[in-house]
Amino acid sequence: PKVIFSGIQPTGIPHLGNYLGALQQWKRMQDEASPDTRLIFCIVDLHAITVRRDRGLLAQYKKEMLAAILAVGIDPERSTIFYQSSVPAHSELQWILSCTASMGYLSRMTQWKSKMSMAEDQELMDKKVLRKLKHGLFSYPILQAADILVHRATHVPVGKDQSQHLEFARECVTNFNAAYGGKHLVYPETILSPQKRVMSLRDPHKKMSKSDPDPSSRILLTDTPSETTTKINRAITDTIPHISYDPDSRPGVSNLLSLLSHFADASQTPQDVVDMINSFDEVTSASEGTRNAAAMKYLKGKLAGRINDELGGVRERYAAIMGRTERDGGEYLREVVEFGGKKARESAEGTMEIVRAAVELGI
Ligand code: ATP
Ligand code: MG
Repeated sequence: PKVIFSGIQPTGIPHLGNYLGALQQWKRMQDEASPDTRLIFCIVDLHAITVRRDRGLLAQYKKEMLAAILAVGIDPERSTIFYQSSVPAHSELQWILSCTASMGYLSRMTQWKSKMSMAEDQELMDKKVLRKLKHGLFSYPILQAADILVHRATHVPVGKDQSQHLEFARECVTNFNAAYGGKHLVYPETILSPQKRVMSLRDPHKKMSKSDPDPSSRILLTDTPSETTTKINRAITDTIPHISYDPDSRPGVSNLLSLLSHFADASQTPQDVVDMINSFDEVTSASEGTRNAAAMKYLKGKLAGRINDELGGVRERYAAIMGRTERDGGEYLREVVEFGGKKARESAEGTMEIVRAAVELGI
């Protein structure tokens, strides 16, 4: 039977990229799943502690992420929703996998390499920098592999930024199964979100991210309609008079076009949106000097409206859940993750029995 697994870091309120790249996809998969498909969605708090934060913040982020997942429509009865740290088997399997995982492969991970090269650029590759770079950041693809493999996941929906880590998870299966002679672990398949990566509104060369220090770079699931409109209106584009879809040379406009095509008709491509905008009277009749402004005004106005329509229901449900949390002291959210944690521990235990027997760790 199919097992769908995906995770998200509790590092802030989810943004439009998380929604399109992950949460909306989770909801769709839940709605379309056949009754014998298991769905497991994990809030990966152990991954979130690779970065130190002020006290109290992680607990708050976890609650907010949980509320957002529920607000999107993930059903705790149908799907398993839980905090990673409530299932110790994730960490146990991580250690076991790390004993057959290749250092060379791990050092080639983009996320690690970008941190290393930042250090090298600054000619800081001395002991001080190595002391600053934490082992958790280096080994976290192994924990991610363990998250997936411990539940025998067959399908893992993620954004493109995660493909390399999924590749690594499959490598972990190959290494472990070869080392212990048997088909102990199951190969997970990557299910790439059909939506392109959503880019930052302030720097369209970077992806939209929860950890970007500039809050105006992202639209949050909890932004009000007017906050959304303001952020979209201020999105960095360019001044080329005619509008065109070209993610490489015009990343800013292309990001907005791709978003609008997604929110408009499902069958509309970004190029269709371009053709439509370029056929408007306000745009065709504008002079060279004002054509860009006319096109952007239409594009941004339309996009902000669509985002607000799409997220309206999610925002209402999120506010309702947070209101309830304030009234009941967090009781409801606790019940949801206790229930999910129990289901997840059962799901993980089956795999751990196989793994412990293979490694001769059983009693
Ligand atoms: P952080 O900055 O803390 O890493 P993040 O925004 O990258 O936060 P994650 O928790 O790392 O979010 O990722 C959760 C899911 O959202 C993953 O499946 C990831 O592929 C997807 N995702 C993250 N950012 C984007 C984006 N800009 N566009 C599309 N999908 C995204
Ligand atoms: Mg990320």
